[in-house]
Amino acid sequence: MLIHREIPLIQSIISGFICTMIDPTDQNIYFEHRLEQIGVPVDNSGFEYMCQICKANIGDRTKHCGDCNRCVSVFDHHCKWLNNCIGEANYRYFLALVILTLFHGMLNFSQSVYLIYLDLIRSQPPFLWPLILNFIILAHSFAKSIALGQLLFMHLWLIFKGMTTFDYIMQMRDIQEAKEQMSKGEISQDICEQRINSILELPQQRKKALSMTIRRQSKVIVQTNKSQNGSNLRVDQS
Ligand SMILES: [Zn+2]
Ligand SMILES: [Zn+2]
Repeated sequence: MLIHREIPLIQSIISGFICTMIDPTDQNIYFEHRLEQIGVPVDNSGFEYMCQICKANIGDRTKHCGDCNRCVSVFDHHCKWLNNCIGEANYRYFLALVILTLFHGMLNFSQSVYLIYLDLIRSQPPFLWPLILNFIILAHSFAKSIALGQLLFMHLWLIFKGMTTFDYIMQMRDIQEAKEQMSKGEISQDICEQRINSILELPQQRKKALSMTIRRQSKVIVQTNKSQNGSNLRVDQS
């Protein structure tokens, strides 16, 4: 019984370890850096964005993580517990970690309920310390299951919507900004509602919100103007 109960815990530890060890960096960055090392010109076609820190073209849903200092493909979030970014490369292992840890919590919860029940009906009077210990495990596993259940539900909803956690955070920020503009009288209620609807309808099409990411088109324009005027021009950041 004990071994069976701990199987999901062992599996979740393995999932967490894999999740930590996988490098979620946008692979195009390694590719372009390698090309530069061997002196082969980089082909910019097909890329809309580049990272000013990594000095490379990046995918549409790539984001530069300040904690890891690297660009992560389909960035979801930076996980402090795993000390790694969660992105396209390791998202499935992160999800497996959440599911298995939730499963382990639920098993612990059901087993604690069963053991408390046995203790109460078999022992007259019941053994105090095993009862207290089982109540502690019960409370801990219940709290863990609720927290992980919410996390899993949120990620399943995000998958259904085709969004990452980062997309969701940016979406909420944009909606909040629109509401603040309306409350200040800068935009009307109709425009605010239109803006919120468009934000909610097209979450996956939202563009980069970080200053280190620029549109490749802007970069090309700036480079062209520099060569023509010999002066530094401002880069329009997305
Ligand atoms: Zn970067
Ligand atoms: Zn990170």
